[in-house]
Amino acid sequence: MMRVFTLMFSVLILVACGQDGDVPVSVEKPALDLGHDYFSFANTDQFVTDHLQLDLTVDFDLQELRGSATLSMHRLDPSATDIILDTRDLHIDSVEVGTTPGELASADFEYAQTHPVLGQALKITLPDGLDQQQDLLVKIYYKTDPGASALQWLPAELTAGGEHPFMFSQSQSIHARSWVPLQDTPAVRITYAANIHTPPELLAVMSADNDPQTNRNGEYTFTMPQPIPAYLLAIAVGNIYFEAIGDRTGIYTEPELMAASTFEFASTQQMLETAESMYGPYQWGRYDLLILPPSFPFGGMENPRLSFITPSVLAGDQSLVSLIAHELAHSWSGNLVSNKTWRDIWLNEGITSYLDSRLMEVLFGKERADEERVLSYRELMQGLEEISPAMQALAPVEKLDDPDESQGSLHYKKGELFLTHMENLFGRETFDTFLTGYFKHFEFQSIASETFLDYLDQNLLQKYPGKFNRAQAEEWLFQPGLPADAPVPHSASLTEAASMAARWSAGELALEDVPLAQWSPHAAVYFIASLPPDLTEAQLSELDAGFGFSQSRNAEISRAWFIQVAARRHLPAYTQMEAHLNRYGRTRLIKPVYVALAKNGQDADLAGELFVAARDKYHPLTITSIESGLSAVK
Ligand SMILES: [Zn+2]
Repeated sequence: MMRVFTLMFSVLILVACGQDGDVPVSVEKPALDLGHDYFSFANTDQFVTDHLQLDLTVDFDLQELRGSATLSMHRLDPSATDIILDTRDLHIDSVEVGTTPGELASADFEYAQTHPVLGQALKITLPDGLDQQQDLLVKIYYKTDPGASALQWLPAELTAGGEHPFMFSQSQSIHARSWVPLQDTPAVRITYAANIHTPPELLAVMSADNDPQTNRNGEYTFTMPQPIPAYLLAIAVGNIYFEAIGDRTGIYTEPELMAASTFEFASTQQMLETAESMYGPYQWGRYDLLILPPSFPFGGMENPRLSFITPSVLAGDQSLVSLIAHELAHSWSGNLVSNKTWRDIWLNEGITSYLDSRLMEVLFGKERADEERVLSYRELMQGLEEISPAMQALAPVEKLDDPDESQGSLHYKKGELFLTHMENLFGRETFDTFLTGYFKHFEFQSIASETFLDYLDQNLLQKYPGKFNRAQAEEWLFQPGLPADAPVPHSASLTEAASMAARWSAGELALEDVPLAQWSPHAAVYFIASLPPDLTEAQLSELDAGFGFSQSRNAEISRAWFIQVAARRHLPAYTQMEAHLNRYGRTRLIKPVYVALAKNGQDADLAGELFVAARDKYHPLTITSIESGLSAVK
């Protein structure tokens, strides 16, 4: 049986519960409304969620989470009779609604047809007698699908220890809906509590009040008392142990990665204290890191109280810890003050990128911070060549197709540059005071770019007139490219590395006179990326023999090198390139290698074959991203 209902922003074809929705009807996306989050179906103008209670069993055999989610919702619209939630591939058994936990009544529910990006709207009709209630409890009994886009279920052989399975979530941007039915928009902030049941030998951790002393018995409870957007809901289960690295900081990981992790991330406590001295108190209690298996799709995810981190930054020399500075900085920009919709994501990522490079400067010196700024700038300039002009605005006025893909990493790097520009104009002290005030003013709120702009105008631009005006700020926010007076970062050491790459390539310098061993890994990356296009095969072999790039254990050097190997079709390093593609699952490290291979004119088929052979090791989000990268080449 089919029925049709009209959401406030689009027409969706509903499929009766229990059918699988194979109705050949195209589904419109919601119309653009800046203020409204067009990546969510939820009717947040009628009901809003305050709190979530989860009770979930983690079943590794069936690769599912199974149990219930209870939403405490508050009515905004007296005439509303339906609650619409976001879901993706969830299997819902039943829904109950009421005002107290002991008096819940069964409620009718229906799914809308699946939208390829947004998932399925779930409409819950309030049972009789609840039409006028202000506060409602909505309890949904459900299980997740093995293909849930947020979850990765790793067999034991893909973990560091090789004996126990591992599962972890990645909810950003719009994947929380694939493991919890809820209002999946960052505009809504919720507190949560959870009872998690796991195999007794494993430990569950969440973006909540993890207890380092908890009993390992398969029964774990969590609370998250600070209100967070749904994309910060997070869970991981595995053979996880804890070790402290400071009084408020510690590492969760498999025992096999513990020693390397505590060494690599030893500066975390100092980073935390430095960040507090610059931008105000850390508001989340503990700050711990969870070091995941290699298939984690991103560098890190700023899940509050417990950042999820790729093991690919375990370089052995602390050279890639800017990632930790970044995730920690999200405790202010992103988690404390969040983007209201994914169109405003630069408020999370751009401001955080600025903060992380400021932290790196304090902790590791200006030279290193400048090297990282130059590398970031180079990626920004490359990104500008690939991203459509409409998506080059920090806050695009045009609609984004997919919050995970539309802007590449532009919102990080252009956002950082925007803040650097203002720091240069107003002075560091004044700008830091402004930022600290901004975090305090909007703490635990989700805001749009326009709200930021108004606050900036009133609290910085008008306060110190004549330096930078609203129209200039609007150019950064709403126009493509970079303003003509955008800052250009410089690093003497990277300039020297690029110059040596040119001179060695031209035969003006012997390889043994390139002091690469004394350089930072950043300079080595820059040297590789600066190699001119007309190198000979013999030169590439000489480089690899001299510097051992193919054997590097620094993931960023490997990334830079294998992009060159793939793009230049340097066949002698293809075996090691294949090993690289199987060693890492972080999208940043592998996708550009696949794309360079597919683009080199001869290896499009090989790129596809290598991907098929390795894809079981990758997270669903990484798979989707590489597939879209490869199909764009064809
Ligand atoms: Zn970030």
